Amino acid sequence: MTKSEFMDHVIAKNPNQPEFIQAVKEVVDSVWEVYEANPVFKAANIMERIIIPDRTIIFRVPWVNDAGEVVVNTGYRVEFNNAIGPFKGGLRFHPSVNLSILKFLGFEQIFKNALTTLPMGGAKGGADFEPKGKTDNEVMHFCQSFMSELFRHIGFRTDVPAGDIGVGGREIGYLYGQFKRLKNEYSGALTGKGVQWGGSLIRPEATGYGTVYMAEDMLSTRGESFEGKVVAVSGSGNVAQYAIQKVNEFGGRVVTISDSTGFVYDPDGISGEKWDYVMQLKNERRGRIKEYSKEFGCKHFEGKRPWNIPCDIALPCATQNEIDVDDAKTLIKNGCFLVSEGANMPSTPEAVDVFQEARILYAPGKAANAGGVTTSGLEMTQNYMGQSWDKVRVNEELRRIMTRIHEQCVEYGRIDDKYVDYVKGANIAGFMKVAKAMVDLGVV
Ligand code: NDP
Repeated sequence: MTKSEFMDHVIAKNPNQPEFIQAVKEVVDSVWEVYEANPVFKAANIMERIIIPDRTIIFRVPWVNDAGEVVVNTGYRVEFNNAIGPFKGGLRFHPSVNLSILKFLGFEQIFKNALTTLPMGGAKGGADFEPKGKTDNEVMHFCQSFMSELFRHIGFRTDVPAGDIGVGGREIGYLYGQFKRLKNEYSGALTGKGVQWGGSLIRPEATGYGTVYMAEDMLSTRGESFEGKVVAVSGSGNVAQYAIQKVNEFGGRVVTISDSTGFVYDPDGISGEKWDYVMQLKNERRGRIKEYSKEFGCKHFEGKRPWNIPCDIALPCATQNEIDVDDAKTLIKNGCFLVSEGANMPSTPEAVDVFQEARILYAPGKAANAGGVTTSGLEMTQNYMGQSWDKVRVNEELRRIMTRIHEQCVEYGRIDDKYVDYVKGANIAGFMKVAKAMVDLGVV
């Protein structure tokens, strides 16, 4: 089969799954040459095997809201590949959740997890449930119902879910509480747990920090640093919050923050008491980012994304396909020379082409946001060992692994002495590791 015949086959086999096809195409474009050059991979038909999940579970999630009404959502777990370790990947609770989105996320997770150097396979799950606007009681009832099915499929050595959009510390708590009740065991079958009950220090910070560490390593290849750089961030959730904190620590100035209602532009920078305000607004009051503009007297752009604000560095930390081709062109025109993706697949393929043609420093999510799953892996290690490491140790491990991820991207993605294709580098490095393991494990 040629590459284009293979992609036709993927499209035919996965109707109505545009996000999944987009994610597969990106990997196939990067690795096809390597695949063709490895007869062992071809003989084992790795490419056709790697695009089909080991198992997909779809289930009904009925629960009762505060008004006493019965509500029904759809729950999913896509266990994509466990060639190098137990299935591992987050749970997303958002109304947009469907099989295509979870398959794209699970597929990406295979290669991301391989890049971390830790023994973790790829998975993703979630539900079309909207936690926003629900009471704690409703969120708890939903989580308990969701886990009443999921508990059969996950476990310490089998499949270890974590958080993602709409699933933070509160949700992981309710999910883990129900898991331990049903299984009658206290094992680390979820990560992102509270530090009092088996979680790792630095896990909440890890994805945002990791995205900035990746950017720092990329900057250093050009003898640059964050000092004095203007940074545009999208999102205001878990990843965005800690990316902003780390940029501030490194001497950069973050001028935008957003949520699904629009973005705020604060030219003076979102730091100090303003960052504290965001943490309180989003994590305790669960309010909208517009309130920030009222509090600090700056402008809110309703329904808009922040990419027309001039910046040196862009850190998209909200959701998939949030930078389109026009956004990418605007970023470049305004002088942006580095994009490090905190979110998963936030740039459309056409936007990625623009970044690559302009030869800016561009790191795809599967490399740049791998700090979250890395620290989940470290949480699993601490659970296995019955230990709790201090912040310094976890952060040092995270920093070391992000540098290792950067090195792998450079090793496999160097185009010439001036340019590294981080997409190609991340995809090939992750693919090689998983494909070799699949060959070793036989046709299973
Ligand atoms: P959160 O739920 O904490 O925050 C998500 C943020 O993105 C919110 O500000 C949300 O706004 C915004 N957002 C979500 N959907 C949209 C949309 N359709 N349009 C505009 N804004 C949107 O999630 P996380 O911070 O955990 O995740 C953000 C991204 O990072 C996701 O792509 C996720 O897959 C990725 N990621 C997360 C990891 C983690 O450890 N948490 C690990 C690796 C990747 P609103 O509140 O209005 O919905």
